[in-house]
Amino acid sequence: MIQSKPLPKDAEVVIVGGGIQGLSIAFNLADMGMRNILVLDAGYWQGGASGRNGTLVRGAFSSPEWTRFFAHSSKLWIGLSKRLGQNVMYSQRGYTQIAEQNSTAQMLQRTMEVHKDCGINSSILTDAELRRVLPALAHERVSAALHLPDSGCAPHHAAMYAYHKACEERGVDIRYRSEVTSIDNSGGKISGVCVGESRVNTQIVVLAGGAESNSLAQLAGVPLDGYPMRLEAMALEPTRPLIGPAVALLDRLCYMHQTPRGEVVGGAEVAERPQNTLNADVPVMAATAKAYLEMFPQLGEARILRQWAGLVHISKDFGPLMGAHHQMPGLFISAGWCYGYAGGPAAGELMAKLIFKGELDDRIKPFAVDRFERNKPVVEPGIVLRHFD
Ligand SMILES: Cc1cc2nc3c(=O)[nH]c(=O)nc-3n(C[C@H](O)[C@H](O)[C@H](O)COP(=O)(O)OP(=O)(O)OC[C@H]3O[C@@H](n4cnc5c(N)ncnc54)[C@H](O)[C@@H]3O)c2cc1C
Repeated sequence: MIQSKPLPKDAEVVIVGGGIQGLSIAFNLADMGMRNILVLDAGYWQGGASGRNGTLVRGAFSSPEWTRFFAHSSKLWIGLSKRLGQNVMYSQRGYTQIAEQNSTAQMLQRTMEVHKDCGINSSILTDAELRRVLPALAHERVSAALHLPDSGCAPHHAAMYAYHKACEERGVDIRYRSEVTSIDNSGGKISGVCVGESRVNTQIVVLAGGAESNSLAQLAGVPLDGYPMRLEAMALEPTRPLIGPAVALLDRLCYMHQTPRGEVVGGAEVAERPQNTLNADVPVMAATAKAYLEMFPQLGEARILRQWAGLVHISKDFGPLMGAHHQMPGLFISAGWCYGYAGGPAAGELMAKLIFKGELDDRIKPFAVDRFERNKPVVEPGIVLRHFD
């Protein structure tokens, strides 16, 4: 996938970032009929967060805004293999959110109202149902559990390969090891990008640069909310099947699932400053191990196989930043993604509609890039992340 041929002189659109966001937007634009699409990525294929995540696809949250958007994405995941013509290995195994504290249990009760309004298939499990769904859980610690049967997991190597192949089949030009070093405008409109000495003329640039979103916005000369943040995950050695659905331990900011080959993969957030490094460290591993042990005591025998880190871009309200940039005609943003793997299919479809047809879908409208300036944050209480500022 490393290509040394010269860059084209012109492109209809240049997408900066070849993670799931960039590839999904490229695929959808190509599928709608756009030609001369160029994707530029500074790193290697799957080198960003899209190749380092927990692979969980959660189809609903606690706010109507997040729920409408992610429910749409979850639906798209279910049909994604057919759409892309490649197996993304989506496994619709369900997703269970566990509350231990009473306040979190009450939040889940309120979430059910939101799900009812949004037509989401979800339920608060009875004690007996929870024992059936997650027999190995430390049930005495649980105060409520909300189950999403349509959600699940998809290994990122499969989904990223599928997007990459589907893009190539539609003529999208994808270049890794191609760092965008400047983004030019002329007369206050986007006019091109440079990769070192090579310039590509274009009137449309999409920033899908993950953790680098702020520096990319700076290159384009516009402000962008948010900051890069390190997230970590780890995998345990394979054990017999213990955990059926994907699980979020809300009060521990911890998530996990068991892969088909038996490894338990997941991570937890700890109260440390965010760091702009790919180093994995002991406090996160210890917090994750503690959460696993207390909530699934049978995992006590399993050893840690590997641990890794990835960088994401986090906005003030943790929500994605999607849409046209209000200060620069021709500049589009797909950033602020902490659940950007789950959101990839919907973001790609709805951003492509906006870019190609000028249609702003109601499901991305609340996540507008300028919402903080307008004092319109989107409050989402059901995520497993914490703020540091
Ligand atoms: C440990 C971990 C666990 C996670 N678990 C989940 C999960 O279970 N479910 C979920 O939905 N999400 C999860 N996420 C978040 C998810 O991985 C990200 O939100 C998603 O991958 C973001 O996709 P992206 O395409 O925006 O960014 P990335 O995949 O990071 O891609 C951005 C790309 O931009 C490129 N780039 C940057 N600067 C430049 C430049 N100047 N020129 C050209 N290219 C540039 C980079 O090389 C990179 O490849 C997790 C993340 C981590 C790190």
